[in-house]
Amino acid sequence: MDGVLKLETLDQSSRRPHVGIVGAGFAGLRCADVLLRHGFRVTILEARNRLGGRIYQERLPNGHLIDMGANWIHGTTDNPIMDLVRETKTPVGEFDSLMYAFDEDGQLLPLEEAEKYSTLMWNIIEDAFEYSNKHGAEIDADRSLLDFFQEQVVTRIPDTEAGYERQRRILLQMAELWGTFVGSPLSRQSLKFFWLEECIEGGNLFCAGTYNKVLEKVAQPAVDGADIRYQTQVSEIRGKSVSQSDTVMVKTTDGQIFEFDEVVVTCPLGWLKQNLQAFFPPLPDRLCKAIQNVGYGNLEKVYISFPTAFWLTPSPDNGRVGQGFCQWLAPKYAPEHNPHRWLNEAVELGSLSDGAAHPTLLFYTYGAQSQHLTSTLRSLATPKERHDFLAAYFRPYYARLPSYDPADPACRPTACVATDWSGDALAGHGSYCNFPAGLRDADRDVVAMRQGVPAEGVWLAGEHTAPFVALGTATGAYWSGEHVARRIALGAGRGGGEGAETGVDG
Ligand SMILES: Cc1cc2nc3c(=O)[nH]c(=O)nc-3n(C[C@H](O)[C@H](O)[C@H](O)COP(=O)(O)OP(=O)(O)OC[C@H]3O[C@@H](n4cnc5c(N)ncnc54)[C@H](O)[C@@H]3O)c2cc1C
Repeated sequence: MDGVLKLETLDQSSRRPHVGIVGAGFAGLRCADVLLRHGFRVTILEARNRLGGRIYQERLPNGHLIDMGANWIHGTTDNPIMDLVRETKTPVGEFDSLMYAFDEDGQLLPLEEAEKYSTLMWNIIEDAFEYSNKHGAEIDADRSLLDFFQEQVVTRIPDTEAGYERQRRILLQMAELWGTFVGSPLSRQSLKFFWLEECIEGGNLFCAGTYNKVLEKVAQPAVDGADIRYQTQVSEIRGKSVSQSDTVMVKTTDGQIFEFDEVVVTCPLGWLKQNLQAFFPPLPDRLCKAIQNVGYGNLEKVYISFPTAFWLTPSPDNGRVGQGFCQWLAPKYAPEHNPHRWLNEAVELGSLSDGAAHPTLLFYTYGAQSQHLTSTLRSLATPKERHDFLAAYFRPYYARLPSYDPADPACRPTACVATDWSGDALAGHGSYCNFPAGLRDADRDVVAMRQGVPAEGVWLAGEHTAPFVALGTATGAYWSGEHVARRIALGAGRGGGEGAETGVDG
């Protein structure tokens, strides 16, 4: 390393092994917690000026906090994040299957029809999981979940049914919402490795009170016991074989050099993809391939707040309210803003309980629509321009909700807040890992990433290295940090094998 740079000497008097953790998201924070409990000295190098990484909240002008990253709890059985949700008394919401769905012409689907398609869609997804689990080894790597859907709609809606073509079309349009789970289109989802998207048992709960108290809880041990260096961006990691001192050397963009006994890199998969050259010696071929192979989605969120949740006032036309999930399938009626007819989906937050409700719609986008929104927003100079763009972009959708009246100020957006993880280098320009069609060894790719390079003192953690049932999630990130800490503790002869921590191996 550049000898001119200041070498930050570490406390040589301490006999405690010193672990450097790059990144203070759930993986890094949990890793720090477990290492501290095993008597390690821990320094966290975090490029941002805050903790949490992709767990992050902002406040709307209406005073409510919103999650810019994770906001669902995926799985309620044996999920440590669920335990923390309970402990912190964080309100959660459960949306039932009640659907307020519009067809491609903007006509509201009758409830029974929307429920029929929704049930069919989830049944096909269940069957695809089963098929992928049972036949993964033989499934052609290029087959996508869309291919599976296209085969299934023909058998589930036979030609003998009246209006079968329209029905099949609607079902396929609705299936596109899978993209909001993984951050990439249905056509890109690997069928062979669809089983890797299966979650922990139990339901999916909406973290109505936001993840902020859970984050505080996860961060507390690191805040109390670790040395946390904010605004410290790592640019180079030199393993033990090149440092010649049996330590791992870490260089930052502002020229600091740190030396550790072991280093845990929790930078997002997207960051690793774009920064393979940061590692010396180069990461082993198998690991580089794994990093390049596994996909990285671009889920984004847009919150639009109103003075009141007008959609909860029963529609004068049909008496229905817009509660829970709302969907606008392949819209033909927004050619100015959405000529590609990208699906839109929103969760309405007006009906949350426990004081968590606020008059806000939360839209989810992925793929090309996310790219379009984030790049357009970046090109606009002022907050007002950005607000006006978002209000106009989403108007064709919210204007179809019950009791919308363009003349009524209660139906005009008061705040529009959009995420830009795609523009965030520290989030790896995206949201979280996924498994695109074409992958041949995705499970082994994950195992290779999880393995890291212990001989060099370089370990990887983060949602992309999680147990299979929790890949891409906050829980997975938490478990991944815990698992690496345990392995380091075991290697250092400081326990680590005991069952004190939770987590499953996958
Ligand atoms: C829009 C969106 C929605 C999501 N929804 C859900 C959901 O509903 N439920 C769910 O369970 N999960 C969800 N997730 C995924 C979840 O947020 C992540 O899986 C989890 O937060 C990842 O934690 P991590 O510790 O692996 O990574 P991160 O939280 O990204 O932490 C990595 C840290 O490393 C830092 N860093 C990066 N590069 C450097 C560097 N060079 N030097 C120093 N520091 C660096 C970053 O600043 C960051 O703080 C969502 C994510 C997004 C983006």
